Formats: sequence, structure tokens, C-alpha cells
Amino acid sequence: MYDLIIIGGGPAGVAAAIYAARKQLKTVLITEEIGGQSVVSEGIENWIGAPKIHGQELAKLFKAHLEAVKGDIVTPALGERVTSLAKTEEGFLAKTKTGKEFAAKAVLIASGAGRRKLAIPGAEKFENKGVTYCASCDGPLFGGMDVAVIGGGNAGFETALQLLAYAKSVTLIHRHKEFKADPVTVGKARAHPNMRIIAHAEPTEIMGDQFVTGLKYTDKNTNEEKQVAVSGVFAEIGVMPNTGFTERLVALDPIKRIKVDPHNQRTSVEGIWAAGDCTDELYHQNNIAAGDGVKALEDIYLWIKKR
Ligand SMILES: Cc1cc2nc3c(=O)[nH]c(=O)nc-3n(C[C@H](O)[C@H](O)[C@H](O)COP(=O)(O)OP(=O)(O)OC[C@H]3O[C@@H](n4cnc5c(N)ncnc54)[C@H](O)[C@@H]3O)c2cc1C
Repeated sequence: MYDLIIIGGGPAGVAAAIYAARKQLKTVLITEEIGGQSVVSEGIENWIGAPKIHGQELAKLFKAHLEAVKGDIVTPALGERVTSLAKTEEGFLAKTKTGKEFAAKAVLIASGAGRRKLAIPGAEKFENKGVTYCASCDGPLFGGMDVAVIGGGNAGFETALQLLAYAKSVTLIHRHKEFKADPVTVGKARAHPNMRIIAHAEPTEIMGDQFVTGLKYTDKNTNEEKQVAVSGVFAEIGVMPNTGFTERLVALDPIKRIKVDPHNQRTSVEGIWAAGDCTDELYHQNNIAAGDGVKALEDIYLWIKKR
């Protein structure tokens, strides 16, 4: 039996694992991969201590740091996905997709978040065939083409600005009249001659044959069905926390993020902590996730030592 199970190898989970090693808590770090969401980013410019770093490079540093301190105290279980987490008499039991089981006195959930997927006809069929959720990964593939961005928040507008560097034109479609994005970012996009913005419109279908050929939407001002011919659709409609495996155990907020006490990252269940983007923390950033992981670990250490 381990002292601690950490679920997730992003900045929250890795920071916690490094502290667990230093505090000599027998730990298993269960994760699909090390690095987290921003591995796809070409340039992270706010990771403290690095003016600019590629997401892959940051992931390498996480691995190297973990390797340097883990000894036989922290066991990485890589390529594993936790599918269920249950309370037992002694503590907790995590089961993974490959059928492995891990038991521990305490659990830190640092499973982060993923992109919210488009739920309209054609979205699933054309995923990776023109429908994409990552401009920094796939944007260059659409050089010289007409593309659409769905979403009027900062992520949508930043994606549009990024795409304007390669694409022939970018059409941004947003379901409301007002944009959630900062006015400065909206202004920058509006100023670009190849940018078209359609507000108060509901995307209804992705069209295509082998690849995407267009996007249908309802103009909510007139209720008319319209379409725009594009080769790529970039969806930026929010994130979904990876909390399905814990849904029946810990208290979640209405959008399924784990509720935590911000003083110590404790969840509603004694013995389970959570950190980073899977929580109801207001701000989601690499540095914040790492800090949350460290905060949780400090509290877990004291809790285990007092038992
Ligand atoms: C494209 C992009 C660019 C970004 N750029 C920046 C930036 O420049 N600066 C910044 O501060 N932030 C940036 N962010 C946000 C930042 O990446 C997140 O805030 C941060 O990664 C959250 O860290 P986390 O450890 O909470 O979760 P994540 O990074 O989401 O990591 C979660 C980890 O848990 C694993 N996992 C998930 N489910 C399970 C499961 N069931 N079982 C086991 N393992 C599981 C995943 O494989 C992953 O290793 C960016 C995000 C994206 C998507």
C-alpha cells in the first residue's frame, strides 16, 4: 500500500510528485503522460524562470526533475488512465484502464482538463479531417486556406489571430451578441483585413466529403440557415475537467470541477485532495497548477504524519 496516489502528470501532479519524493512519502504517480495540456504550445512565455519555452521542452524538464529526485520513493505508472476511484477501509483504491489496481492512504487528483468537443452533426466524423481543437498544433496545416473558428472568448480570438498568420481568411462564429474576449484582443482581430466576425450565430453542422468543406450555422438575428465554405474548423468552446472517474465520490461544481478548499486543496472527502485545472480554482495556468500541487502536498504530508 502506498502513502499517496497522484493522478495526473501535468504541472500540478509533477510538482506534487517532486515534493512527495523530498518528503519521503511512498507514492505512485498514475498518468497517461508527463507534461500536461501545454505540451502542444510552441512558446510558453510565463513559466517562471523561463522567458520562453516550448511545451515539449517543459515536459522534458518535468521528466528530468522527477527522474532526479524520485529514487525508490515515487513510482511512475506511465501510460495508465485511472477509470475508477473508490474508498476502502484502509484508504482508497484506484483502478486503471489496463486493469491494474493501486491502493493508498491518500489521493491527490491532478487530472487536469481537456477541450470541450463540438456536439453538432459532422463534428466527430471530421475530427482530424478539418475539425481541430488545437491551433498551435494544426494551424500551419491550413496555410493559404479559408478556416473558421468557433468561440468568442479569449481562446477563440487568440486562435483566430494565430491562424491569420497562415490562413487565407478566418471567419469567427460566436453564439452571443457580445464577446467574452478582452476588447483589445477583439480589436486586433477586427483590424485584420482577412478576418470576418459573425456574432449571434449558432453553428449547426460541419459539412464535408473526405475532409471538411464548410460550416452551416443559424443566423440568430433572422433565423436564416447560412453556410460558409471553409477547409478547417477550429473549436474553442471551453474546457472539460477530467473528473469522470471520481464523479460519485467527491463533490463537484455544476461544470464537474472538483470543489476544493483553496487554503489546502482538500476536497469534500477526507483523504482526497485535488489540484490544478480539474478543480474549481478560478484561474487555470501552469504556475497556478504547480503551486496548487505543492500546497496539497504540504497538507497531505502533515495529514499522513498525524495519522
Ligand atoms: C494549447 C494550450 C496552451 C497553453 N498555454 C499556457 C501558457 O502559455 N501558460 C500557462 O500558464 N498555461 C497555459 N495553458 C494552460 C495550462 O496548460 C494548464 O493550466 C495546466 O496544464 C494545468 O495543469 P494540470 O496539471 O492541472 O493539468 P493538465 O496539464 O491538464 O494535466 C493533466 C494530466 O493528467 C493526466 N490525466 C488525465 N486524466 C487522467 C486519468 N483519468 N488518469 C490518469 N491520468 C490522467 C493527463 O494525461 C495529464 O498528464 C495552456 C493550455 C493549452 C491547452
